[in-house]
Amino acid sequence: MIPENQANFTMQLVIPRETQPGENRVSATPETVKKLVRLGADVVVESGAGAGAGISDADYEAAGASIGSDRSALLGSADMVLRLRKPEMDEISQLKAGCIHVSYLDPFNEKDLIKAFASQNVTAVSMEMIPRSTRSQKMDALSSQANLAGYMAVMLAANNMPSIMPMMMTPAGTLKPAKVFIIGAGVAGLQAIATAKRLGARVTAFDTRPVVAEQVESLGGKFLEIDLGDTGQTADGYAKELTPEQVEMQRQAQKAVIADSDVVITTAQVFGRKPPVLVTADMVEGMSPGSVIVDMAAETGGNVEGSVPDEVVNVNGVTIVGTANLANLAPRDATQMYASNMFNLVEDTWDEEAKQFVLDLENDILPGCVITHGGAIVHPTIKDIIEGGN
Ligand code: NAD
Repeated sequence: MIPENQANFTMQLVIPRETQPGENRVSATPETVKKLVRLGADVVVESGAGAGAGISDADYEAAGASIGSDRSALLGSADMVLRLRKPEMDEISQLKAGCIHVSYLDPFNEKDLIKAFASQNVTAVSMEMIPRSTRSQKMDALSSQANLAGYMAVMLAANNMPSIMPMMMTPAGTLKPAKVFIIGAGVAGLQAIATAKRLGARVTAFDTRPVVAEQVESLGGKFLEIDLGDTGQTADGYAKELTPEQVEMQRQAQKAVIADSDVVITTAQVFGRKPPVLVTADMVEGMSPGSVIVDMAAETGGNVEGSVPDEVVNVNGVTIVGTANLANLAPRDATQMYASNMFNLVEDTWDEEAKQFVLDLENDILPGCVITHGGAIVHPTIKDIIEGGN
């Protein structure tokens, strides 16, 4: 018996094709379709949805899905939509009342989209807002994609360097290992450190969360000590925003390391806010020609002055890579991980007897990531931002 405060739905799960140009990932694999079908769901995949990740309609069909090609009919019939990117505005009006829509949503910035979800009486779940706990790690798409992105950032750096990463001792002489400086040692940064180390580079890293120093060192990196005073982290493990004075202190302390590096990879983010600018134009100028900077924050505002979202630019001989959506450069693995995050979310409150997803708004995960429900914005922080006019 399901308590009254938990809404129930009959379950047709729809996997739409991602429509953002260049997006190759998708929210289900044949493996996750098989598991969803085993739970008792009716899974419908939009024709061509897996093409970018190398998955054919026939692969999905063999796993137990049916294939549909009328996108608006699919969206209109869905009890639950599992997708990666936020929907277009006009797609929200195609969803039926009571539908559960799970995707990235960028809820701090997409105010109109959130309001539209509420007025359409659709339950919107934001993958960015999955709380950070041990139990929710298997659903944490920010982490799964950041891991791949960190790896890819090093690949892009290596591709754009005029030299190689490892030391090489040959009869023709000795090549020195590349010096790599990584700013921000969260999920992406730690993976970048591990990848650069595996390629034989000498790695230094900095993060405002001092707890990270040990993790950097355990991967063989050197942690740059900078005393910024009180920095700390939130209960969710995110960095707190620095004061302008602290940002300036950090810039000055990093200047010499940046000038001496062959590669700088910036991954610094402050959840829900614009990323800090940590590499200024004069620091770029101070680097040797041939050096490479990969600005992983370029798409959301940039850690590096002069980086251009989704472009590779050359500034006085220094290559600045602003390529966005780095996980998408490994679409097969990124899809496998994202699809698995989605499946784990669905399975977590699946009622095996009733064969449906139960929106348990009292558990430890859903209240953190359900943004709209029952015709209203229910997430307190997002409600405050949107309705409080902040
Ligand atoms: P993020 O993408 O928000 O930020 C990336 C990194 O940038 C963070 O390490 C942050 O401290 C750092 N940063 C911010 N401002 C900076 C500055 N001025 N200079 C240098 N670095 C700066 O964070 P993330 O990678 O998603 O996660 C951060 C941490 O959260 C992880 O390291 C982990 O400890 C924790 N986490 C926990 C879970 C879980 O428990 N489920 C899941 C993922 C991450």
